[in-house]
Amino acid sequence: MTKPDILLPRKMLPIVEEQLDEAFTVHRLYEADDRTAMLAQIGGRIRGVANGFVAMGNTLLADLPNAEIVASFGVGYDHINVADCLAAKVMVTHTPDVLNEEVADTALGLLLMTVRELGQAEQWLRAGAWTGKGPYPLTQATLQGRRMGIFGLGRIGKAIAKRAESFGLDIEYHGRTQQEGVDYPYHATLTGLAEACDTLMVVAPGGAATHHAVNADVLKALGPNGIVINVGRGSVIDEAALIEALETGTIYGAGLDVFEDEPNVPEALLALPRVTVLPHVGSASQATRNSMGQLVVDNLKSWFATGKALTPVPEMTRL
Ligand code: NDP
Repeated sequence: MTKPDILLPRKMLPIVEEQLDEAFTVHRLYEADDRTAMLAQIGGRIRGVANGFVAMGNTLLADLPNAEIVASFGVGYDHINVADCLAAKVMVTHTPDVLNEEVADTALGLLLMTVRELGQAEQWLRAGAWTGKGPYPLTQATLQGRRMGIFGLGRIGKAIAKRAESFGLDIEYHGRTQQEGVDYPYHATLTGLAEACDTLMVVAPGGAATHHAVNADVLKALGPNGIVINVGRGSVIDEAALIEALETGTIYGAGLDVFEDEPNVPEALLALPRVTVLPHVGSASQATRNSMGQLVVDNLKSWFATGKALTPVPEMTRL
């Protein structure tokens, strides 16, 4: 039996590439000197795409007229134009659940680093200031007594809530709908959530519907003791408004794993003292990334063996 042809636009983990090579005929676009020429030559044969964060919509799909499935690495899929894929009758899968605990761990770590300035305190020691200037200054913020508002109480948001509860935090949330069986207080608006809490945990997906949802008004509602943590997507926060709110004391601090224009982070943000920044490492342990990669492989294998995907993105019910 001939193996289905798969396109690999970007290099992926060895665990992914090795298994794809066994099961499929793999075409590595990232190795091509002339990508246009390669797509013109093999595009018509491609039936599946293993996609590691490459923008995907009509631009690439037009070169792949016989594509059936795009198996994306990661749970967020805002880099994929799902409407274009639906129009072209292309299945889109992602990698939910296998990263929930890792990202929730990172979120709590980032929260603690931000509130207690742990990164800055470590730099103090490493720079010799402990022996030179003395103890690191007392932090003006504490985690104790904080009320956490979760924007996006989904799979990861719930794993964060579980951890935050054990730290003694009160929890409330905002999403498009109130969830059955969830006892945390619900707010129909994000501004309402921000008014009710002082610690805003952003773990909502990117895309047009959430673009700049955390704006100047939401930050004002959060107030001068307010801390924003973002492990969702950079596009969800209006970064210019966030910088202004931090510079003027409208809010207290921020911990960010994601940014509007990654990997570029505004100098103005880096210059602020109560900001903790991480280079989008939410799920970035070898074990968790391997689990995500395995799900990419398993989705492709399942599709070509049974015609069914394991973890389609929600919109695929319309396929
Ligand atoms: P889920 O789909 O399980 O949860 C998303 C939540 O966001 C839901 O509770 C949903 O509630 C809410 N939501 C979605 N759209 C809107 C909207 N327009 N307005 C308000 N609320 C909305 O996703 P996951 O928990 O699995 O992942 C969440 C996001 O985390 C991913 O999309 C990704 O962007 C990010 N992520 C970041 C990582 C990192 O490395 N930093 C790693 C992994 C994920 P409702 O449907 O009721 O509106």
